[in-house]
Amino acid sequence: SEERSLNFIEEIVEDDISAGKHGGRVHTRFPPEPNGYLHIGHAKSICLNFGLAKKYGGKTNLRFDDTNPVTEDTEYVESIKEDVRWLGFEWANELYASDYFDLLYAFALNLVRQGLAYVDDSTPEEIATQKGTPTEPGTPNQYRSRSIEENVQLFEDMKAGKYPDGAKVLRAKVDLASPNMHMRDPIMYRIKHAKHHRTGDKWCIYPMYDFAHGQSDAIEEITHSICTLEFVPHRPLYEWFIDKLELFPSRQYEFARLNLNYTVMSKRKLLQLVNEGFVEGWDDPRMPTISGLRRRGYTPASVREFCERIGVAKRENMIDVSLLEFCIREDLNKTAWRRMAVLDPVKLVITNYPEGQTETLHGENNPEVEGGEGGRDIPFSRELWIEREDFMEVPPKKFFRLGVGLSVRLKNAYIITGESVVKDAEGNITEIHCTYIPESKSGSDTSGINVKGTIHWVSVPHARTAEIRLYDRLFRVEDPSNEDGDFKEYINPDSLKIITGFIEEDLTTAIPGKGYQFIRKGYFTLDKYSTADKLVFNRTVTLKDGWVK
Ligand code: ATP
Ligand code: MG
Ligand code: MG
Repeated sequence: SEERSLNFIEEIVEDDISAGKHGGRVHTRFPPEPNGYLHIGHAKSICLNFGLAKKYGGKTNLRFDDTNPVTEDTEYVESIKEDVRWLGFEWANELYASDYFDLLYAFALNLVRQGLAYVDDSTPEEIATQKGTPTEPGTPNQYRSRSIEENVQLFEDMKAGKYPDGAKVLRAKVDLASPNMHMRDPIMYRIKHAKHHRTGDKWCIYPMYDFAHGQSDAIEEITHSICTLEFVPHRPLYEWFIDKLELFPSRQYEFARLNLNYTVMSKRKLLQLVNEGFVEGWDDPRMPTISGLRRRGYTPASVREFCERIGVAKRENMIDVSLLEFCIREDLNKTAWRRMAVLDPVKLVITNYPEGQTETLHGENNPEVEGGEGGRDIPFSRELWIEREDFMEVPPKKFFRLGVGLSVRLKNAYIITGESVVKDAEGNITEIHCTYIPESKSGSDTSGINVKGTIHWVSVPHARTAEIRLYDRLFRVEDPSNEDGDFKEYINPDSLKIITGFIEEDLTTAIPGKGYQFIRKGYFTLDKYSTADKLVFNRTVTLKDGWVK
């Protein structure tokens, strides 16, 4: 992509490098919670974090933020690694916040011993009330003045499993009057008797995000910890912990999260779509997940290009999904091989072409590339399938396709002229009869005839069938999360249409993961469930922006 000016995070990094901060070192991290599959919003964060390290000769850690045992799973860990790699990035270290549980516990005890943390027996409701409101300061309770010795003992007992879930929490003693609610004695640890996917039953107390994230950054000596805007009010606490514990001074920087229209992006909502059967799974091609985009036929380059084009914003905004579609069209236009498929077939009979005769025509793979990237044989015969919409019995003016008395070129083949139609009892056209001009063969046309239109076709005796899945947007409104009622009420009932089409023979050897342009119909790729016996193609995107608002 072309030269662009620095984004504000690159400016910060360049300033830090020229000031010699951390010896000019750049070390970022991507910290997913393994509680779902990655989505296009995560792709933005991945491109940003890994992109910075790449650009400035630094490193990026992949850190699983696995501090909540209830929602996390190794299935998610594996999918996250696959998706990051697929996007084209390699991490310097694969790390887990849970590997720091011992260290984090020691940090917490350190704060207790400094008189900067205390064990609180209040219920969540009491804690919320005592915190006050943004305009009124909070009020200290009797637990806040517990002695250091008592707090050490109670915290050790919490860890030892002496109390049930929710009986006590460990809180930082910061400032109950702070205008920042996050500084009003935030919770550091809660009791949860739950099995963790990595540490098993070793722990029954788990650190909160605010007491795990910054400390993990500091342990790894992360120089630039990049997160989304909702963490701006957490920053003073992030710095408070690092300061009080005298840890490596990682710094947090925030950018606007990516919001995309006609979809939802929270993992909680995506999980509902999966669990309640609205989609086939996390990698359903309609999902905004990276695995869904991959199965749909998106390429890593197109997703990276999209992330580059949207830039790094400081304010929330909504990106039009058309931009994502534009990026994949641009990429596939350069790389996809051209093939012919007829999705809504009607039979065409060339009455002056000898019965039983077959000839082999030739079509190039990719006209966008010098030399066409080779080509393939295309069998031609007297009977062809063509697209129903490419014929009109009584064509209006400027209909540059086939009609009775109208001529058109068959792609890679001959010029034909419509002669007559055969209809069934209901008046539906079942066959179109035409004649061809033998001298008009593509590549050696001596007919001297010019026609305006070209249509695609597939030879009837050589055609193979395939299941073809046509996808549309998953939601029928721009921002389903902001509508009345449940977001699932706004699912587009026509988001998936499954049809059977005729494809040219050569597509039986289509390569998984490769993009194909079905001429005039869009870009398609093999679905992961496609087999030799039953070919299944997913439409990645149409050729033009066909969305009607
Ligand atoms: P969700 O709200 O979808 O559950 P999350 O932020 O809780 O997302 P994490 O697994 O914690 O999910 O995210 C890992 C990283 O990806 C974080 O640094 C987070 O800020 C970033 N991220 C998540 N969603 C987006 C988004 N829409 N745009 C940009 N970055 C995002
Ligand atoms: Mg998160
Ligand atoms: Mg989340």
